[in-house]
Amino acid sequence: MSRLSRKIKEYNEKLSEEKAQPLTACVKTFGCQMNEHDSEKIKGMLINMGYDIVPDYSVTGSGSIPDVIVFNTCCVRENAEDKIFGQLGAVKGAKRLKPELIVVVLGCMTEQEWVVERIKKSYRHVDLVLGTGNTYRLPEYMAARIFEGRRVIGAESEDSVPEGVPMLRDDKFKAYVTVMYGCDNFCSYCIVPYVRGRERSRKADDIIDEVKALVQSGAKEVMLLGQNVNSYGKGKSGDGTDFASLIRRVARETGIARVRFMTSHPKDLSPELIRAIAEEPAICAQLHLPVQSGSTSELKRMNRKYTREKYLDLVSEVRKMIPDVTLSTDIMIGFPGETEEEFADTLSLLEEVRFDAAFTFIYSKRQGTPAASWTDQVPAEIVNERFARLVETQNRISREKNEALEGKALSVLVEGPSRTDPSRLTGRTEGNKVVNFDVDAAVLNERGLNKPEAGDIVPVKITRAETWSLEGVYYGKNAEDP
Ligand code: SF4
Repeated sequence: MSRLSRKIKEYNEKLSEEKAQPLTACVKTFGCQMNEHDSEKIKGMLINMGYDIVPDYSVTGSGSIPDVIVFNTCCVRENAEDKIFGQLGAVKGAKRLKPELIVVVLGCMTEQEWVVERIKKSYRHVDLVLGTGNTYRLPEYMAARIFEGRRVIGAESEDSVPEGVPMLRDDKFKAYVTVMYGCDNFCSYCIVPYVRGRERSRKADDIIDEVKALVQSGAKEVMLLGQNVNSYGKGKSGDGTDFASLIRRVARETGIARVRFMTSHPKDLSPELIRAIAEEPAICAQLHLPVQSGSTSELKRMNRKYTREKYLDLVSEVRKMIPDVTLSTDIMIGFPGETEEEFADTLSLLEEVRFDAAFTFIYSKRQGTPAASWTDQVPAEIVNERFARLVETQNRISREKNEALEGKALSVLVEGPSRTDPSRLTGRTEGNKVVNFDVDAAVLNERGLNKPEAGDIVPVKITRAETWSLEGVYYGKNAEDP
């Protein structure tokens, strides 16, 4: 624990004794897996400073107002930003009721100058604003606020690769592990390179050590995270290990049962990585490969640096080497200048590839990106109509892909009771598909087997397909033969 965290903890312990109640902190997370994982680190730092983590907060005083509220923000879409400003505004009332409340804003949004200016002027109840590169310095800024009463807004961010940051993991059996930070690709619609900085990689040995420690504490699956993991190890921060070698090392040296990764840029997906997925049993046969558009002309305007044909070649190469691969993608609709022909190309690519799942987004204009200044924005009614057609097409394909799994036995990592029916269990396949399943108690009894528990990896026979999930039954060790 750092010296400053210890100092804050001692101070908070005294305060908590006087109040005869624990000091609490709430972290609200917006956005992607990178942010979810950053929030695990923020919670770890807050625990070291003596706060109990609570899942939610009240702004009216009817429930309890915590001592710290942290907003870990996202700026990939305009509606996420609007929602965050709305929640920030609502916290003003809580601060009036509890003036000692510390309000912290950090994450991608705060890397934009206009956001910092707006918070400075219009959200004066916010105490601390940090960027994505200096989140790990939270104890320093908390100390400035607690011991010096200072408001620190817009602290300078850094292109850092922090190690040894404490974490409160949300899940014991599945864990995120960041392998690299930042992005150098500058797709013309995307704000990420401006707010997450240039690409920089962690040392392979540090990653291996982290996964080994996770396995020791019970983890069964890790997801290696980076904005573009295929660039791992490139550039001056790398230690000479490329991503294919890193993931092989994770699969072979750590004892982890399952490893997967996110996200992979199609222009950089190497044959070595495809081979590693095909050959290493611990690497899940699953690939998220964002295509964004099926039209070469639109891809060019997006600055994606591959063509439709190149993407299709890549998919057939992947399927040749990993026949049972589960493929997913991201698709954007309504990119500036998108014509009906370009949209038709995207629809036909969906039909040709037949992804298991596609995450579909409507283009959102992001200040500071090249595409934001283009004048040929697509009218909202056309975008909405295309979006509906896209979703309808993909939903049909996803269901058909799931139906093809009916009758098969799939290996499932059990997550616990199903949220909608606690008498059933839920888990995920190697392809990251959700399976809700029953346990045949009579058969288990007969075979002297126990009911599976969270963290077990068990065979489940798929009995029915839904669009976004599967239904199944666990019979025992050999699900093919109930
Ligand atoms: S690869 Fe493109 S879309 Fe992905 S984070 Fe980088 S700039 Fe954004």
